[in-house]
Amino acid sequence: MIKDDKLFVWHPYASAVDKNPLYAVEKAKGVYIYLDSGKKLIDGMSSWWCVINGYNHPELNKAIKQQVDKFSHIMFGGFTHNPAIQLAKKINEITPSSLQKVFFSDSGSVSVEVAMKFSIQYWYSQNKTSKKKFLTVKNGYHGDTIGTMSISDPINGMHSIFNKSLLKQIYVAKPEDARLYNKKTSKSLQQMENTLKKLNSSIAAVIIEPILQGAGGMRIYHSDYLVQLRKLCNKYNVLLILDEVATGFGRTGKLFGFNHANIVPDILCLGKSLTGGYMSLAATVVTKKIAKSISEKAPGIFMHGPTYMANPLACSVALANLNLLFSYDWEKNVKSIETILNDDLEKISKNKAVKDFRVIGAVGILEMKEKVDVGSIQKKFVQHGIWLRPFSNLIYVMPPYIISKKELKFLMKQLNTVINMEYKDL
Ligand SMILES: *Cc1c(COP(=O)(O)O)cnc(C)c1O
Repeated sequence: MIKDDKLFVWHPYASAVDKNPLYAVEKAKGVYIYLDSGKKLIDGMSSWWCVINGYNHPELNKAIKQQVDKFSHIMFGGFTHNPAIQLAKKINEITPSSLQKVFFSDSGSVSVEVAMKFSIQYWYSQNKTSKKKFLTVKNGYHGDTIGTMSISDPINGMHSIFNKSLLKQIYVAKPEDARLYNKKTSKSLQQMENTLKKLNSSIAAVIIEPILQGAGGMRIYHSDYLVQLRKLCNKYNVLLILDEVATGFGRTGKLFGFNHANIVPDILCLGKSLTGGYMSLAATVVTKKIAKSISEKAPGIFMHGPTYMANPLACSVALANLNLLFSYDWEKNVKSIETILNDDLEKISKNKAVKDFRVIGAVGILEMKEKVDVGSIQKKFVQHGIWLRPFSNLIYVMPPYIISKKELKFLMKQLNTVINMEYKDL
């Protein structure tokens, strides 16, 4: 299996001649991943934020099977269907009332591209055609397509390679670490305001990941930064896009990242855990005001329409996933995960190779002093029955919400053992 993979398949952020080990998966159930080799792993990654309710869940399986027997796909131009309508209604129910219209797409990156196009077309409809740039912060991550790369961190995103192909957007300093933030002295806020003051006539929107910057560095910032940012966007007449593709649906301890700050975005991007990790589906939600303005100004249509828009299988399983999430006390689960992550990471951080640790909701982050050797440490994780995938100098844990205390304690114990093996000379 692995031999053919090496010949024919490309993996994420990998070389075509990747030397790192690959692990073939046979099946997965709950928080367990079963490898072809017979090895059983506890999942500490939720398959990159997605699998919040565990693998192979009977309710989610049922939803998708029932829809398969009706129809798996139908073009969304001219047709509609219950899975899309019910899911849009559900998203409406759980988001602030000013957010109204849901645009479905296939992936997080596309949901952000769509948000960018909505912003530009909104200002076009307001006869402000010069407002077409995006203002964002360093260390952000919004996807891998050319448009979203232009607003993701220039260094992490290797903009140097793609320089001539990327749109030039506007970057300001990343928000201060939550523990160091002070509203009165925040340099990042000052820079944000100065830039908005100077350039607002060319800026369509500010885009940011609320409360937690994900793939751009796993950084937690203060909720008051978001409160102030919302005020600044109002003051300088630019839209605020919140990219909740990673933070949405409870991961940070609140249903959405913006709930930490009690603010409402003009455009909201959702993805990843929307379907509980069953299928790729994303949504861009816009306010009534934006929807109305775009629709009233010629040509009166929004210029986007993915082929697989609102795929019925994906919408069905997403709806079942959200219903499942609200059927138990997910907030309590996330809180209990947060407590264990805090306690255990504090202990692990005594190892001299660790620079810092931080926790928000069901995300625990170990920042190492040096870049982590992923191939080497992952081998040890697998030997010890756990699945984690570090990047750069970050080792992070974000299990499904349904993990038991006992399972999480075991995961953290094994993580501690591996760290002490991998960094034993320090
Ligand atoms: C993962 C991610 C994306 C991109 O989503 P894909 O489904 O991989 O295209 C966009 N924004 C954020 C914040 C993400 O974490």
